Amino acid sequence: MEKLVSLCKRRGFIFQSSEIYGGLNGFWDYGPLGVELKNNLRDLWWESMVRNPPPGPDGDELQIVGLDCSIISHPRVWEASGHVGGFNDPMQTCRQCKKLFRADHVWEGLQESEWVKALRTEFPGVTADFLRPRLPDVIRWFESRGKKLAKGLAIVRNPTALKPRVEAEVAKRTEPRLADFLTLIGTEPGQRAQLPCPECGGDLTEPRQFNLMFETYVGAVRTEDDKAYLRPETAQGMFYNFKNVLDSTRVKIPFGICQVGRSFRNEVTPRNYIFRSREFEQMELEFFVHPSEADKWYQYWRETRYQWWCDLGLAGKNLRLRDHDQDELAHYAKDSGGCCDVEYAFPFAGEKGFTELEGIAYRSNYDLTQHGKVSGVNLDYFDQEKNERYVPHVIEPAAGLTRGLLAVLCEAYTVDESRPSPELMRFHPRLAPIKCGVFPLVNKEGMPEIAEQLYRDIRKQVGPAQYDAKQSIGKRYARMDEAGTPFCVTVDGQTVDEQTVTVRDRDTGNQIRIAIAQVIDYLKERV
Ligand code: ATP
Repeated sequence: MEKLVSLCKRRGFIFQSSEIYGGLNGFWDYGPLGVELKNNLRDLWWESMVRNPPPGPDGDELQIVGLDCSIISHPRVWEASGHVGGFNDPMQTCRQCKKLFRADHVWEGLQESEWVKALRTEFPGVTADFLRPRLPDVIRWFESRGKKLAKGLAIVRNPTALKPRVEAEVAKRTEPRLADFLTLIGTEPGQRAQLPCPECGGDLTEPRQFNLMFETYVGAVRTEDDKAYLRPETAQGMFYNFKNVLDSTRVKIPFGICQVGRSFRNEVTPRNYIFRSREFEQMELEFFVHPSEADKWYQYWRETRYQWWCDLGLAGKNLRLRDHDQDELAHYAKDSGGCCDVEYAFPFAGEKGFTELEGIAYRSNYDLTQHGKVSGVNLDYFDQEKNERYVPHVIEPAAGLTRGLLAVLCEAYTVDESRPSPELMRFHPRLAPIKCGVFPLVNKEGMPEIAEQLYRDIRKQVGPAQYDAKQSIGKRYARMDEAGTPFCVTVDGQTVDEQTVTVRDRDTGNQIRIAIAQVIDYLKERV
């Protein structure tokens, strides 16, 4: 990740937001290459969902329309959706270092924490049976290095009380696991046993609720009545506009509404670069169906969305589809068909190996029913042909655009030590921010004129291109490799005589010579 983050800054994909002021945790800016890459990913999604979706499960054309809703909506929207009452993450604060953690992230945090890593490096057996004979060494570790690395830890703060208890407990257990061991050394006698703070080892408070929505006030007065929220998801816009879409278009069930846009969550621990940020972009579809057909459509979207990510080049060992266990299901999905995630093997995924890229949820008729109740507006659907009235059920594929971008960046990042400049970004040509680099071999002898004309033609007819006449040709190729440009066209001495150029392929480094007149078709076909 460090190398990727550094390349992304160096080449202008992603910058820390307001970096000259020290940055703001959880906020990111997309640079000249990043914005192109992000827009390409967004456009591919829109194209394959709204403008030209694949055929449905029975081979029928899908009806899907788009929306672009405001980021701030009526605050009652979030009452109806359950976000005001329920969009809470249970949080724990460390009594020693005062850091906040999401209760369900403490174990993950411990596995990544400096003091646990140091402990495991010195005592790899801390997870298994052979901890017991080495326990005196482990305890000595807490009296020396542990004092510096985990000064909040119970056994470090209060060794007299903890040591005999730890010795007795470890002797009793047949196979002490890491989680049990950390709980043991992190809990003061007489306190509720729990995992310690990932930062300093200290005591964590009981989990408390923390609402993730950013609040603001609408208008000049700042009373409770003027409070509003930045949307934490784009989905609700599709539900409160359900009737507008029905009344203004000719769509009939089954049909879908899509939206791409910014969402905001005051994440407690934004981390892993743009994976979990406080301002991010989502690409969501709400697909409305007859209740009896919900399972069929859930299966359809489950497969279709997984395939979409595969087609972008994420397929293989880095992508998987995982069904949720019953106890993971969101409140709206409990009584219905289910939920699954498309997961990617992000480099920071830790022991789990994979984390969520997109969720596909069967939301039953929860949202429309809620908005109907809270707004008092009837959101039933009337099927004239069948003379049937019902509240449609919904299948929701909800993807992260910025999180998807990170997956694309991770997948593209390649190190090839056999090259003079080993780092390259192997983007799918459709996603690549620059499609072609155009270089005159030397900046004279008629070459710049031909190259400039070619550059103008490629920009117009193929897509973004970059003209570069500076530095050695090797350095120019290396720059384009890091930007993920799939092709480079070089105008050389032969061009002037023969009207041919070389085209270099980013991934193989191979060059072929083709006629200038063929360049546009050659690139179009591949992009
Ligand atoms: P998580 O469990 O990671 O917090 P979630 O299950 O709450 O995510 P959803 O509400 O299903 O996420 O949102 C749909 C998609 O939006 C996610 O699959 C993810 O790609 C993206 N997303 C959600 N939260 C964030 C965030 N803080 N930063 C970037 N992308 C996010």
